[in-house]
Amino acid sequence: RALTRGAREIAGGDFGHRVSVNSGGEVGELAETFNQMAASLEQEEQSRRRLTADIAHELRTPLTVIQGMVGGIRDGVFPADTEHLSAIEAQSELLTRLISDLWEISLAESGRLRLELGQTDLVELARRALRHAVPQAQTAGIRTSFESTLEALPASVDAARLGQVVGNLITNAMRHTPEGGQIRVSVSRVAAEESAKPHSSSAVISVRDTGEGIPAEHLPHIFDRFYRVDDARARGQGGVGLGLAIVKQIVAAHGGQVRAESQPGRGSTFSIELPLDA
Ligand code: ADP
Repeated sequence: RALTRGAREIAGGDFGHRVSVNSGGEVGELAETFNQMAASLEQEEQSRRRLTADIAHELRTPLTVIQGMVGGIRDGVFPADTEHLSAIEAQSELLTRLISDLWEISLAESGRLRLELGQTDLVELARRALRHAVPQAQTAGIRTSFESTLEALPASVDAARLGQVVGNLITNAMRHTPEGGQIRVSVSRVAAEESAKPHSSSAVISVRDTGEGIPAEHLPHIFDRFYRVDDARARGQGGVGLGLAIVKQIVAAHGGQVRAESQPGRGSTFSIELPLDA
């Protein structure tokens, strides 16, 4: 009876409901499993609420700026000149990016991200991503280098998306590395862990910087949606905290994983590990 009542409560949206059944055996086990299910539903619900609140907050900020600017121009407080129109344009671009990032994440989380797989040389892919960033790095006074133990490393990947992932890690590295710092991108091949498929190997693409690093207490969260270490600063740089969440999803869609290590004050290393067939 307690279980039936519990199931009704949960179906009605009371995810905090738990049953207390003090019987052993199958019924006791069922009650325990029931409570685990309720706890996991409760957690899901909380995370959904948090996400909705985060999205609402992120949408509101640029919209407030746009409305303020447009109202100011209409009332003749600001001139409709390049400066003010560009500010409106920048905020609209921010909104567009936010929405396409959210779209990408929602596709990935529901397993609907379609990868366009094709034979790709990962050495060339990583080299190209770094090459794109060189002019900006030079302007910022950051040295860049590329290192690979292999001439080429062919793999079946979605080149556009993986290029975006590596580019994203490089952009982050640049954002958090001061003038005089260094960014190193490297590609290598490693044997997969013993416990994994025997004779298989993985490709590792890593991006190392000599920047400010990430405090240990933040490290486990940086791949979460909307997570920012320094909220105000990241926001000022146009970051909404979705970049690494997308990186994680795209890498996972390839069957790989991404890791971050960091020594605060000395730098960070982000490594993408992708399984190679055979
Ligand atoms: P954002 O849009 O803020 O850049 P990300 O998801 O890309 O969001 O990153 C999440 C947070 O992780 C950032 O706000 C930043 O604090 C931290 N972070 C990411 N990459 C680095 C890095 N290379 N060095 C230091 N901190 C980093």
